[in-house]
Amino acid sequence: MPSSRRTLLAALAGGALTGCRPGPDRSPAGTRSGPPNPDRTGAQPPGASPAATAASPSGDAVPPPAGVTREEVVARYGAAEPTGWGFDAPGVISRLSPTATDAGAIALTFDACGGPQGSGYDEALTGFLREHRVPATLFLNSRWIEANPSVFRQLAADPLFEIANHGTRHCPLSVSGRSAYGIDGTRDAGEVFDEIAGNRAGLTRLLGRPPRFFRSGTAYLDDVAARIVDDLGERFAGFTVNGDGGATFSAEQVRREVGAAGPGAIVLAHMNQPGGGTAAGIAAAVPELLDAGRHFVRLSDGVG
Ligand SMILES: [Zn+2]
Repeated sequence: MPSSRRTLLAALAGGALTGCRPGPDRSPAGTRSGPPNPDRTGAQPPGASPAATAASPSGDAVPPPAGVTREEVVARYGAAEPTGWGFDAPGVISRLSPTATDAGAIALTFDACGGPQGSGYDEALTGFLREHRVPATLFLNSRWIEANPSVFRQLAADPLFEIANHGTRHCPLSVSGRSAYGIDGTRDAGEVFDEIAGNRAGLTRLLGRPPRFFRSGTAYLDDVAARIVDDLGERFAGFTVNGDGGATFSAEQVRREVGAAGPGAIVLAHMNQPGGGTAAGIAAAVPELLDAGRHFVRLSDGVG
């Protein structure tokens, strides 16, 4: 899938990635190689203040998801050594179920990464989805929710959309401090718990039920973190198609990538960069996919 152009785009995007640590987001050094980044947060909008950052995720004490406490997670996995690092690990969902695939389903998923460079709202995108009754799954970071409370309520109230967990601080999910695209990952099993459980607690409170799916910032994880996601009662959603290259693609690039999605694909794109090509590209790709006999589902309706 990688091409030289997309690799270059990923490298350029790396300079605007949202950091996981320390404190408010920073802009780490960009990467110069590797696969295209599927999940950057985009360039700083003109006039935006780096100091205008969201605060703590929910402010609430974090209840133990699925009855598993932080201490239990640390006891189970504190000494575990990961053997893998990337977009895939045991338990990661990268495609829809065989039944959904046979039926020609595609899942569009849109990340909202949060932070000072990633808390925009692409109203043209969601407006198109609503107008054409295209279901989608929205992966929301806690910082984005804090920055967009009224929009969150609108989206959560619309059955067209499924709300999912895009982390508390938008960290790659590592038990050993690995980084991805210049973003420091979580450092240990306890921080993996915090990254999942913080936003899960907030979403559970807001939605009245826990989210089913989790995707980390950058979509990176290791195999031990994958087990922690499972223990906490969520399913890690990977992707089949990198639809907008971390919101760096032009509308034509998005149309080409998303329009080529086959049956069973999970498409990853963004809903937090209204200045990018995502909305126009999705609007162009959706009719092509419908003409090709595809239809769209929320993740819960497509993974069995
Ligand atoms: Zn993200």
